[in-house]
Amino acid sequence: MSLRTRLAVVLAGVMVGPLVAVWVAVGVLVPQARDGQARQTVDRSVAAMAVALGESCSGVGETARSLALDLGSRTQENTRPTARLAQAAASATADRRPGVAVALLSDGAVIGTATGPGADGLDAGTLLAAHRASCSRGSVGQNPTAVLVESVPVLSGTKEVARAVAARKLDDNGLRALADQLGISGSIALLTSGSGSGGPEVLASSGARENLSASLRSLSEGRAEGVTGEARYATRGVSAGVPYQIMAVTPVSGGDLQRLLAIVMATAAAGCVLLVRILARRLTQPLAVLTGVAERLGRGDLSARVGIRGYDEVGTLAAAFDVMADRLQNKVGELRTSQEVLKETFDCFGQALGRTHDIDGLLHTVVEAALLGSDAVVGTALLGDARGLDERVSALACTTPSPASGALDDLAELATEAVHRGEAVVTGVVACAGPAIAVPLEHEQHVVGAIAVARAEGARPFDAAAVGAVKSLACHTGAAVANVRAHAETRRQSVTDPLTGAGNFRALSTTLAREVERATRFGRPLSVLMFDLDRFKQVNDTEGHAFGDAVLREFARRLQDCLREVDTVARYGGEEFAVVLPETDACGASRVAERVVDAIRDAPFRSQGRTLAVTVSAGVASFPDHGRTAAEVMRSADTALYAAKRAGRDRWCVAVSSGGDRPISVSR
Ligand code: GH3
Ligand code: MG
Ligand code: MG
Repeated sequence: MSLRTRLAVVLAGVMVGPLVAVWVAVGVLVPQARDGQARQTVDRSVAAMAVALGESCSGVGETARSLALDLGSRTQENTRPTARLAQAAASATADRRPGVAVALLSDGAVIGTATGPGADGLDAGTLLAAHRASCSRGSVGQNPTAVLVESVPVLSGTKEVARAVAARKLDDNGLRALADQLGISGSIALLTSGSGSGGPEVLASSGARENLSASLRSLSEGRAEGVTGEARYATRGVSAGVPYQIMAVTPVSGGDLQRLLAIVMATAAAGCVLLVRILARRLTQPLAVLTGVAERLGRGDLSARVGIRGYDEVGTLAAAFDVMADRLQNKVGELRTSQEVLKETFDCFGQALGRTHDIDGLLHTVVEAALLGSDAVVGTALLGDARGLDERVSALACTTPSPASGALDDLAELATEAVHRGEAVVTGVVACAGPAIAVPLEHEQHVVGAIAVARAEGARPFDAAAVGAVKSLACHTGAAVANVRAHAETRRQSVTDPLTGAGNFRALSTTLAREVERATRFGRPLSVLMFDLDRFKQVNDTEGHAFGDAVLREFARRLQDCLREVDTVARYGGEEFAVVLPETDACGASRVAERVVDAIRDAPFRSQGRTLAVTVSAGVASFPDHGRTAAEVMRSADTALYAAKRAGRDRWCVAVSSGGDRPISVSR
């Protein structure tokens, strides 16, 4: 269940709870209270009507007794009153009794009758029919209408000579007037006792009779009080002074109020639902935005921001979230940058690893790595030791303005200081740049050089991490420089004759093969000279082997002096040497051979305090005249050398051409 749904449920509970309470209070308790109130009303109405009827009955009885006394007093003792006297007495009494009709009966006939003011509808027949009724005893006689009747004997002496009857009619209007006097609300009705099969019947009613039908049915079913439809009724039976059943009916529940309440409640419930939706949406909207942004960040979209501002908790949370996202983005950016730097550094080291034959390339790579790793803008690498350093390479960061190159002199001085101290030197500022550091390059505790780098003007000083990075780089660089040097030495030795310093047979083969290839491709001349010291065995035999070695070294030196830079000298065998002369034909090669032969002959060899004249013989062969491969040319040169030996030594010979049509030419 989502937070929004849960919040909506809670809010709905909070809002619907009071609504239900109101519904219970208004829909259940109020009707109960109204029913109680209606019960009180009908009970009070019935009681008030009973009292009123009792009083009215008393008044009727009083009138009848007054009439009897009046007539008795007018009549002679023990004689029957005359009609004239009776009529006079009746009129006199009725005049003083509004609403009451009186009659005097004798021997079953009316001898006098009169009606008071407002007592219309009570005729003599009615009074005659009711002459035996007595409302004070609860008797109503045979009247079809509601009438309060009281009859008393008229005594003349001790003898009853007539009966005096008084009656008050209770029709709808009279009952309504009486109810109004009593302040009765609702309807009040006088009913027959209902002893017959038809049940109680309405004799008089203050309200519309059709409103009483439901209550009458309920009463006829034996319920003296109760609720029918939306009305409550109560009844009171016949009693002394009250000769009729009294029924009071009053409305119970306000049906309109109930319906109005239902409409109000439904409207309130709909309003609640709407309010709950709005509140839940408004309260959870920021959280939904936060969740969405968190998911975008989780997917790697670091540009996602909440953007909600406010001083409440959600606003504070959103602001903190955005700050966190900013920092995360910055950190990731820094991380990517450092990864790129690391990659570039790795690239530098990869290049350095491939430059084991190129010490300047190695140092250049190292300086660039030092710039990257220490955030420096200018750097230099120097080779040497405490006796002196030679600047080999320098580098500037791409972003560096050209003035930073003016820092190289200061960096060289700083490097010299570092080499003398035998440790890293950090300085606050150098010319044309900012903070600088120099670290000696060492290998097996021997200084082999130094590197020095400087940051831009105004940059932060080198911290421990940067110093450590440059030191680590210098440490590896010292070993790398030593390795490059060792590699170069090994390579040099592999192609060098250790006694004379000239190339060895391998160097000769390599060079000759390369030059023959080049001469073949470009159609260029190429010559080879072969030298063999004359009677060298005797030199050894007479002067000793060490002297012979010295002669060999001196011969190589003189030979080298007679050649160009591009020419290659190699010791071919014991006291035999070969020379490769690129871009030289047989004629030019002959001149070189003669120069060498002359140089050996013209200056005696000295060693160990002794002097000895030595001569040499040479053979000359050229490409392509004397051979089209290296082996053929060498063979031709060797053959020419042999010819020079045979011709008497201390001379040179040119080989015979490949076609054999040209004889070997020999010097001298
Ligand atoms: P030729 O004029 O015919 O060339 O006579 P040669 O004595 O030079 O001839 P040979 O080839 O018989 O002698 C070469 C001598 O060179 C033999 C050997 O003792 C000597 N020799 C070879 N290599 C060395 C070396 O490295 N040092 C010294 N001292 N002598 C060497
Ligand atoms: Mg020899
Ligand atoms: Mg020899």
